[in-house]
Amino acid sequence: MKILIIEDEPPIRQTLQYLLELNGHTVLAAADGPEGIALVAQQPELIFCDVGLPGMDGYQVIAALRELPAGRDLPFIFLTARADRDDQRRGMALGADDYITKPFTERDIVDAIAARIRRQQPLRERVEQLLAQHRSEVGADWSHELLTPLNGVLGGLELIEADGIQPGELKELLRLVRASAERQLSLSRKIALYFELERTKVSPSERTYHCDAAAVTDSAAFLAAEEKGRTADLTVRCDPGLVALAETHLFGAVTEIARNAFFFSQPGQTVTVVGTHRGSRYQIEVTDQGPGMTAKQRANVAAFAQFDRDKHRQQGLGLGLGIARTAATIVGGTLRLDSGPGERGLRVTLDLPVT
Ligand code: CA
Repeated sequence: MKILIIEDEPPIRQTLQYLLELNGHTVLAAADGPEGIALVAQQPELIFCDVGLPGMDGYQVIAALRELPAGRDLPFIFLTARADRDDQRRGMALGADDYITKPFTERDIVDAIAARIRRQQPLRERVEQLLAQHRSEVGADWSHELLTPLNGVLGGLELIEADGIQPGELKELLRLVRASAERQLSLSRKIALYFELERTKVSPSERTYHCDAAAVTDSAAFLAAEEKGRTADLTVRCDPGLVALAETHLFGAVTEIARNAFFFSQPGQTVTVVGTHRGSRYQIEVTDQGPGMTAKQRANVAAFAQFDRDKHRQQGLGLGLGIARTAATIVGGTLRLDSGPGERGLRVTLDLPVT
């Protein structure tokens, strides 16, 4: 373990350091609070801290530490000359995990560390479990989403190849095969765009791009509406303007946002797309009248996040909003999710720089 000692008395600090190193630990040592807090940047896994420190005392050290993201959950053991119960209560109230009274023996130290490791174990296991669950869910979605349309194609072909097929049936099966193949194509394009954007994020292009925001937004929104047979539900109003984004990226982003809007709303409910040119920015707002999202769901938008996956199993791996967000952020834009008017539906806003 990497252990941080904060102790002002050199003989005690050195003895403790020696004992810990003897037991195979790596030690970071500090003589006062500020020095100790600075050493948290080196990611110790456990802290021994004296209560009676000059200037900033041990209580102030733990209070400051708990304010830091890196120090919030760090196991913290107080060292004190006083075995006073009030002191112990105060330390525990501030979030200390244990207390060791000076003078201590090697046994005291070894036992305290062993107790910390035992306490940490269930938490670590839970984190591992969550990670494993996440990985398997993401994996399952990929294989399911990728294989379903292909199975449609192959299953349809098998029926077509069977003996005694009627001309009417043949037409119907060909229509099924085509629909499955188109679904596969659209999904493959989406995945390709996702990875292209991820690449661009890591190594940005030297070229500067621009495209006609109104024309691209209009055709992307229309495509998404047409896929669902809902062009009658679509309203588009866009100011003219050139945005600093590759045309394929803007088209992909708006298509995904609009698909999301049509997916989560019902036929007959309007999807409104508004493009507004304001100074050096161009905003594209897509508002639907579907069920919307909770604040937490909105906050959790990520490439692989699917919302209410049981209720609304979304085709396409939930990559859509991830694509839109990455397309915006690589050019200094943003993607924002808000409730629609009257807390109904969802409004997704792409905010992009103009050229
Ligand atoms: Ca001291």
